[in-house]
Amino acid sequence: MNNYYDVVIVGGGIGGLGVLHYLKKKNFKVILLEKSARCGGLVQSATDRNHLLEIGPNAFLKSYKNTYDFICEVGLADQIISNRPEAYHRYIFRNGKIHPLPEDPISFFKSDLLSFAAKCRLFLEPFVLKGPSEESIKDFGNRRFGKEVTEVILDAMVKGICTGDISQLDINSMFPKLKDIEKNYRSLLLFLLFFKKRNVQKTNDGKKTFFLSLKKGMGDLSHHVHNKYRAEIQTECLVTQISKEDAGYQVYTEKGIFYAKEVVLATRAMEAASIIKNTYPDYADILYRIPYANVATVTMSWKKEEVLHPLDGFGFLSSSKEKLNILGALFSSSLFPNRTPEDEKMIKVYLGGPQKEEMLKLSDQEIIELVLKDIQPILQVHGKYQYVKLRRIENAIPLFNMGHKQIKEQLSEMALKYKGIYLVGNYLEGISVDATIKVARTVSEQINN
Ligand SMILES: Cc1cc2nc3c(=O)[nH]c(=O)nc-3n(C[C@H](O)[C@H](O)[C@H](O)COP(=O)(O)OP(=O)(O)OC[C@H]3O[C@@H](n4cnc5c(N)ncnc54)[C@H](O)[C@@H]3O)c2cc1C
Repeated sequence: MNNYYDVVIVGGGIGGLGVLHYLKKKNFKVILLEKSARCGGLVQSATDRNHLLEIGPNAFLKSYKNTYDFICEVGLADQIISNRPEAYHRYIFRNGKIHPLPEDPISFFKSDLLSFAAKCRLFLEPFVLKGPSEESIKDFGNRRFGKEVTEVILDAMVKGICTGDISQLDINSMFPKLKDIEKNYRSLLLFLLFFKKRNVQKTNDGKKTFFLSLKKGMGDLSHHVHNKYRAEIQTECLVTQISKEDAGYQVYTEKGIFYAKEVVLATRAMEAASIIKNTYPDYADILYRIPYANVATVTMSWKKEEVLHPLDGFGFLSSSKEKLNILGALFSSSLFPNRTPEDEKMIKVYLGGPQKEEMLKLSDQEIIELVLKDIQPILQVHGKYQYVKLRRIENAIPLFNMGHKQIKEQLSEMALKYKGIYLVGNYLEGISVDATIKVARTVSEQINN
């Protein structure tokens, strides 16, 4: 039968493309079905009037081994670039200006990001006792670092990762390593000062380069994998539902029915739920319980001389206590070369998330005006922008709120109950590209039909 496969993969984001690559290595007869015209999902880049735009990720951490290995395996090792050393600093917005995040104890004491009382409180961290096994990020932060550090730094950093509300987010699901360190080393501060430092020294290449990307943007990864496996990919092929048959599954699409022994659903949680809801309603109900944040990004550039701030960093973040409309901004033109014309500075601003979602109801022009109102005084921007592009992303980022651990446990039970259906996505092990690729590889190892 023509339409009969060992595995059908639904969704051509980085998760689905990862599964495709790993299963092809195992010589499976496999097809990937993607509803849109291009693969990549959130991992896509576009060039518009000499500005390189990233829909989702701009970079990945150097320590993200799954991503690094995947890029090398698919043949793009020579395209990897490191961040410019000058883009090393991270800034936090507080009281009307941005402050560099202190990098060592001396800069920490000199910094005016935190009050003297908050700095002293932080140094009590080694004496804090272990907390309950389940708690929110806010409770964890308040307990270990004190209220001010949690409100000013932790909240802002979490906003930069997932836009979520720290009083709702589950520390175990978002940052399992922090809980492990508390359990095994007792103090995060002592771990950072004595244990973590040794690791950094070992891998330190002398340059302050923590982030990697690809010369033509992160989207080149999806583009390249799509081209590599073009024969095994059907685009513009929306999967509507699946049903069980004796030997496997029937996968219903706009382009007909595909048959497979096993099916990988590499979509967002609610999309996977919609595909299986008629066949496995109990499985779908669990997936529907995973909340997502809506976000918007605004990429803007100005002539260099019109932005007085040197943009000597990765970008800045702001906590929910601050009265900004935006969550933060990435200094895109500082981060990697060839992102914008040489005589321009470009930033990518993030908006939305559960605590600032109202903003997304405004028109494009209203949002751009609010962004300018925030950005102009902070980065000392004068003059009219050269370029602007606003992008809204609905259900952009899964939120690992309290109860997420239980949702994952229930999904594992369902996977045992309904054999042959596999889930891949950033709502499982972590919201990053790296975590998604890791899940893709693990699932591919489990498939042995
Ligand atoms: C603004 C933003 C910035 C980010 N920045 C970073 C970053 O800097 N670093 C980082 O590591 N991560 C970042 N992420 C997260 C990262 O983008 C995701 O973890 C990753 O792209 C998820 O990949 P995925 O394949 O699971 O999902 P997706 O990219 O959502 O792909 C799912 C695919 O499934 C397809 N699909 C859905 N339903 C169907 C159907 N019924 N039939 C057929 N096809 C279907 C979709 O069209 C899509 O192509 C960011 C995310 C956002 C939103």
